[in-house]
Amino acid sequence: DILANQIAAGEVIERPGSVVKELVENALDAQATQIDILVEDAGIKSIRVIDDGAGITNDQVQRAFLRHATSKISSRQDLFRVHSLGFRGEALPSIASVADVVLKTAVMDAKEGTKIHYRGGELVSQTGTNARQGTDILVKDLFFNTPARLKYLKSQATELAQIVDVINRLAMSYTKVAFHLVHNGKELLQTAGNGNLQQVIASVYGLSQAKKMVAVNISDNDFAISGYVSLPELTRSNRSYISILINGRFVKNYNLSKAIVKGYGSKLMVGRFPIAVLQISMDPLLVDVNVHPQKHEVRLSKEVQLMALIEEMIVKCFTNQNL
Ligand code: ADP
Ligand code: MG
Repeated sequence: DILANQIAAGEVIERPGSVVKELVENALDAQATQIDILVEDAGIKSIRVIDDGAGITNDQVQRAFLRHATSKISSRQDLFRVHSLGFRGEALPSIASVADVVLKTAVMDAKEGTKIHYRGGELVSQTGTNARQGTDILVKDLFFNTPARLKYLKSQATELAQIVDVINRLAMSYTKVAFHLVHNGKELLQTAGNGNLQQVIASVYGLSQAKKMVAVNISDNDFAISGYVSLPELTRSNRSYISILINGRFVKNYNLSKAIVKGYGSKLMVGRFPIAVLQISMDPLLVDVNVHPQKHEVRLSKEVQLMALIEEMIVKCFTNQNL
């Protein structure tokens, strides 16, 4: 029912950035190769996500807006095992309960697609539409019926920064997907989707910064690490430019970012942090998912071993560069 969906929305959908995250993750789960994200007024006015993924069959569209109607996995343990981002079936019903949502979708070779409209959790209409494969979802008037939540939103600059952050992370995690982010008609990010992480880093941080980053890699029996780290001359005043992906998923882990910084030794000035993007592959069983997945925080078995390996990788890299 609508109330239950609104309560769930309180947990899943806190701000425009969470809507963007959920919608883009759905596109990724649907194997999209091209995702366009069009945002107006930091997502408060509208958010539109267009993908070329699998789409939803006409008879399943209403079901996608029912709580726990996930077509995906059911156990949190599966999170790092299965390549699927959604797992609770709460995002679409939650968003539809606190906004105005029009979704158009079609599967491959369909004669006709479906256009469905929800507002404040109520089904407004469902009709046929053209059959372009993929999904096009437009979310307007976010939180129009939950004024307390609307009031709690921060400035447009802050909300937009969150959205950009979400897309940057996903673009770095899914280098084979072409992302296109536009805000109020202005292009903020465009990636090629050709699998080249360095090119994505150049799109996210700028070409001149990307040139000041060097490739790193190392592996042992448990871990394989590869990525890019900035030269000691290219630093930032906080850790948020350190991105760690475990088995393709963005994670937060203080100890791993500490290990990166430690690898620089005395080369970094106090209070300065590198830009880094590390992709780590490991047995999913080494990832402890006993932490709320929305927050991206993970604990790892063999964490000390991994920290030492990261540090060694960075020390070696700068030794090779004669730094
Ligand atoms: P979850 O992602 O946890 O399964 P959601 O509420 O986000 O739950 O989505 C519900 C269902 O709607 C998904 O399981 C999927 O079957 C379908 N769906 C949502 N968005 C898309 C999309 N962009 N492309 C294809 N199917 C989608
Ligand atoms: Mg989802």
